Parts: sequence; structure tokens; C-alpha cells
Amino acid sequence: MSTVSDYFGSLVFDDRVMKAKLPAKVYQSLRKTIDEGAPLDSQVADAVAAAMKDWAVEKGATHFTHWFQPLTGITAEKHDSFIAPSPDGGVMMEFSGKELIKGEPDASSFPSGGLRATFEARGYTAWDPTSYAFIKDKTLCIPTAFCSYSGEALDKKTPLLRSMQALSKQAMRILKLFGNTDVKCVRTSVGPEQEYFLVDKAMYDKRPDLIFTGRTLFGAKPPKGQELDDHYFGVIKPRVAAYMADLNEELWKLGILAKTEHNEVAPAQHELAPIYATTNIATDHNQLTMEIMQKVALKHGLVCLLHEKPFAGVNGSGKHNNWSMATDTGVNLLTPGETPYENAQFLLFLTAVIKAVDDYQSLLRLSVATAGNDHRLGANEAPPAIISMFLGDELTAILDAIETDAPYTGAEKTVMKLGARVLPRFFRDTTDRNRTSPFAFTGNKFEFRSLGSSNSIACANIMLNTAVADVLKQFADTLETAEDFETAVHDLVKKTITEHKRVIFNGNGYDESWVKEAEARGLENLRTTPDAMAQLLSEKNMTVLMSHKVMTEAEIRSRYEIMLENYCKSVNIEAMTMIDMVKKQILPALETYSARLAESCRVKCAVAEGAGSYEARKVKKLSLLMEQIDSALAALEESAAKVKATEDITDAACLIRDDLLVKMANLRIPCDEAETLTAKDAWPFPVYSDLLFGVR
Ligand code: ADP
Ligand code: MG
Repeated sequence: MSTVSDYFGSLVFDDRVMKAKLPAKVYQSLRKTIDEGAPLDSQVADAVAAAMKDWAVEKGATHFTHWFQPLTGITAEKHDSFIAPSPDGGVMMEFSGKELIKGEPDASSFPSGGLRATFEARGYTAWDPTSYAFIKDKTLCIPTAFCSYSGEALDKKTPLLRSMQALSKQAMRILKLFGNTDVKCVRTSVGPEQEYFLVDKAMYDKRPDLIFTGRTLFGAKPPKGQELDDHYFGVIKPRVAAYMADLNEELWKLGILAKTEHNEVAPAQHELAPIYATTNIATDHNQLTMEIMQKVALKHGLVCLLHEKPFAGVNGSGKHNNWSMATDTGVNLLTPGETPYENAQFLLFLTAVIKAVDDYQSLLRLSVATAGNDHRLGANEAPPAIISMFLGDELTAILDAIETDAPYTGAEKTVMKLGARVLPRFFRDTTDRNRTSPFAFTGNKFEFRSLGSSNSIACANIMLNTAVADVLKQFADTLETAEDFETAVHDLVKKTITEHKRVIFNGNGYDESWVKEAEARGLENLRTTPDAMAQLLSEKNMTVLMSHKVMTEAEIRSRYEIMLENYCKSVNIEAMTMIDMVKKQILPALETYSARLAESCRVKCAVAEGAGSYEARKVKKLSLLMEQIDSALAALEESAAKVKATEDITDAACLIRDDLLVKMANLRIPCDEAETLTAKDAWPFPVYSDLLFGVR
């Protein structure tokens, strides 16, 4: 393996392999399934399975698995080997079309939020032919959807595919009205930028909080944090560079277009961005990327932290979901056009997104809600919990002009008359982007910036696609019955701007004054996961998901349960870990260190009267802190017991938000202070400066 192009995609059963390995007829039939969703007949499936197996075995694979994304948020796989006994006593490698298309994993240990109780115990996986099969750890992995036996989705891929379909259907109606008749479907594309931290494995191993929860639950601020901004885009350290090189190679072999990598703002923080792909493929790739990131790190004696907030006081990690819609003929619907007519179409899609974000703020907000992400959103580092949009000066000015029927004097200084035929000609905004906006227009795509780093991007895109599909449906309903199409487009764009401009905010989203202004504008501010998740059950949100057949009522309710269960479980584990670390490590360490000081004090006193007062003072301070720690510990234990005794998941989540998290914060304060008073060799685990600056 020499150059990247030699090995790029070498572990993927991609179009090149299909073309080379499949009989022409089979290939065409499969392509039709991939491109147009045509059903696959069983003979074709058998032929594809045989070719896949031969190819995989040639590459050293011995097993196959249906690879799926249950609601745990990570991927799942159950491996079966290809072997089958042959009559002569040996083995053959076998894989049938049936095995390719459908699997029946035991679904009972995956979260279902009560779905299985209502329906059936068994679940099945179904091949997603639009996402290529690949080889990982000598196993042929077949991307699949995961459903209950009665067809209720138990995964994230199924509703994602449904939402893509919904959007395509409605966008096609609009395109038809604009005379685009050669378009067969509209696909959404996503390029997710992934942030992560790297820490030294040996240090990680000494921190139960990192091991059990993925984040530090204790740690005083180091003398240096991110205040110098000297890490962002800085020179990549040799160990990190070696990691990135290795990571790229592994991702490229899997056909993942890892493209850019750089240091992020916080020390030890980095980012990787792939080239964008169709949403379900981008989602599969992002799941794989997260897995490979962690695996490759271990080979380098490192641990890759994907948690949203591994360290207090420095930035957390997010994921920027760059999103656009494009036709199968290659036209990006969010690219300003060359002609006024194209621009009318662009403005219609643009305003559809504006209305979608405004109408379904809470769906977007809740799609990124997790215990981990609650530490970022609204905490002055990530976009705020308030969902608003940034459009840039030029677009905003154009929309203003349309709204007020005023002439637009843009970069080209052209005065425009209104009416669809003469919607303005303009160039895409090249002004600097607003990094504080949760949802920013960036020239030909939107960047939804609120996602957490460890989260699957599926949920955010399910909600985004559905919201936009719904608005496009409303638009199509109006326009299809309009007497004069061009006037109707103009009126619709104008009306939409007037009604939804409140969601456009080009200012600083981190500013305290924005919270007040947003409230005055009537925008929602859902600060925490329990606040946000409650909105999933609102009539409006349930209706939109159900009417576009993205989720059934049972699926929505099950997801509500599961998301809150995840929230409760994660915070509970954190509380338990804190309690354990305080009891077994921090308090004993302080006891030992105080005894050391007391002994020194005793010896000094014996030598010279009045000596040892430094030690005495310190022992006193530490004793006081130990008392505080002890009572904060008792309060946390009491709160955890209360949570445990709360059966209703909504009540439990609210109790965690209002009480448990407060008690956890109260316990951390005296512990962190005690750390600053304790000798380094006496502190029981590596501190922030070790973790953040330890990888060179
Ligand atoms: P920045 O850090 O400036 O936001 P990056 O280059 O790191 O930019 O990431 C931009 C991401 O947006 C990349 O993943 C890129 O492939 C993706 N992207 C570019 N064009 C589109 C598009 N039309 N649709 C979706 N994603 C896109
Ligand atoms: Mg970037």
C-alpha cells in the first residue's frame, strides 16, 4: 500500500467493486435499488450476497454481521461466521441473499422504551443497500435498520431514512412547480465536523471518573487553560500527528473521506471533518469514525474522549452538522442561483428552512439534548440553548427588502423591483461567519452547531429533515393551487419572512442580553434535557413526526422514555462515581496528607517553640474542607437515594436537574479547593495540568 488512492475504500464493497464483481444485470438491478429504492428480488440478493462474500473472504474476512444503530447511541453487531459444513467433512464459506437482507438479532437487551412490551419480543434487521457494506476486524459489516417484529423502529437509521424520504417527496413537489421535471429525488447531505480530546492512557487509567463517565468530575483549574488561544490551529504535536496519520489511513480504507484536521481551542482538543455525504451514509460514517478514533488512540497509548464536557473551565466538544439539500441531478437547492428565476427557487427553499427552524425550535433543541450536552449549550462556549439563525448581512438585507417592498441596494448596487420574475440577483455572502449562532447559513449550506460530540447525528437530521419537509408541504399546498405561480411565490416568501424573522439573529449568541431579547421575541429557551425532551410529546411535534410517517406515536413515546432514561442513568453513574472517589480516594488522601503535615508540625514544635505554624494552619484549613466535603457527600448520597426511589422517569429526570446536579456541584467545590492545598504526590489521581498538557 503506497498512495492513498491505492488503498482508499479498499475495505468497502463500493460501486467500483460492485461493477467489477457483479454480472451486469445484477449490478443494474442493485443500482436501481440504491438510487431509486426499487425493491430487490431474491435472485439478485443471492447474487449480491455471493459476490460480497467472495470479495470479503478474499480480504481475509471470516464473519459477517448486520451492523445497526440501536437507541443506545452506539452501534451494535452480532457476528456470524461464513462457515457451513461441506459434505466431505470440510467447510465452505457461505452467505445467502436471505442472510444479506434480513437478520434476527435478539432484541431483548437493547432499549425499546416499552416498545417490545407493547409489541413483540423479537426484532429484525434489514439491509440498507444505500450504505455500502465494509470490512472491519475481519468481519463483513452490512449496514442495516433495526425494527421490532411489527415494524416499529428500534434504531436511529429507520426514522432517518423515513425523514429523508419525506423531505424528498415534498421538495419534489416544489421543484416540479419550478419546471424541474428531470429530477428523480432530493437528498440531504451532511458533513459533520467532529471534535474530540486526546489524553494519555496511563493518566486516564488513574481516573475512575474518566473511565466510568468519560468526563472529569473533579479537578481544579490549572495555571494555564485556553486563555492564550495558542492551541487553536497551532502546530500539531508529534504524538498527535502520528495518531492523526494513522486515523486517516484507517478511515480512508473504510471509504470515509476524512479531509481536515486541526487543533481546537482547548488544550488537547482536536477536530476532524470529512467531506460531506448523503445523510444516512454520513451518519454511518460518523458512527464508524467515532469508533475508529477510539480504537486508533489506544494503539498510540492515548484515549480519545468524545464526551461533550470532559473538563470544566475549558471548551467542551461539539459536532457541527453541515446540512444541505440537493437534487439527484447535482443541484444544491441552497446555492443562490445565476438567474432571478433560480434565485426565486433558492429563496423559497431558504425561507422554508427559516420557517422550519422557527416553527420547530423545540424539535431541533431536543434532538441534541443529552446530559453531556447540557454542559455546553447555554454555558457561554457553545451556541446557546435558544435556537436562532444567522444569515449574514447580505441575505438579511435582501430578505428585509422583500419584506418591505423596498429597493435592495446590495453589493452590485442594483435596485431591484419586486415580483418573482425580478427577485434579486446576488452573490453568496462571503462575510465572516458568526461562530455563536446555533444555526448558521454558510453560503450554500446550513451549519447546525448545537450537536454534542458523542451524539449520533441521526436525531438532529431526523428532526431537521422532518421540519423542513413539513414546511415544504405547506408551501407546495399553497403554490399548487395558486392562480399566478410567480406572484404566489413572491407573496409566500414575503409572508414567511414577516412571520418568521424573529428567529433570525446575526448578533452575539453568547451575550447575556440575547437571552432577554430572545424571550421578548417569543423564542424558546430550553436549558436542560428534561426541559427539552418534554417538548417531544407536544401535540404539534408529535403531529409533524406522525403525519410525515417519520415516527409512529408508539415510537415517539418510546424515544421519550429512552432519552430520559439515558439522561438519568448517565447522571446517576456520575453521582455514584463522585461518591466513590470522595470516599475511597479524596478523603483518605486528605487524611494522609494532613497526618503528614501534623507530624511535621509536631517534629518542628519539638525543635523550636512556635515552629510548625504553617503546617498547623494548613491542617486546620484542610480539616475544615474535609468537614465540608463530608457534609456535601452526605447531601449527595441523600439526593441520589431520592432519585433512586422515584419511579416515574419524568419526575426522576426533573429531580436530577433540580437537585442531584446541584449536590454534585456542591461536592466538587471543596474537593477542588482541597486539591490546590495538597502536595502533588499526595493527590490520588492526575490533575488537570497533567491531563490537558500531558500529550506531547
Ligand atoms: P468550517 O470549520 O469552516 O466550518 P470545515 O471545512 O471544517 O469548515 O467543514 C465544513 C464541512 O461542511 C465539511 O465537512 C464539508 O464537507 C461540509 N460541506 C461542504 N459543502 C456542503 C454541502 N453542500 N452540504 C453539506 N455539507 C457540506
Ligand atoms: Mg471546521
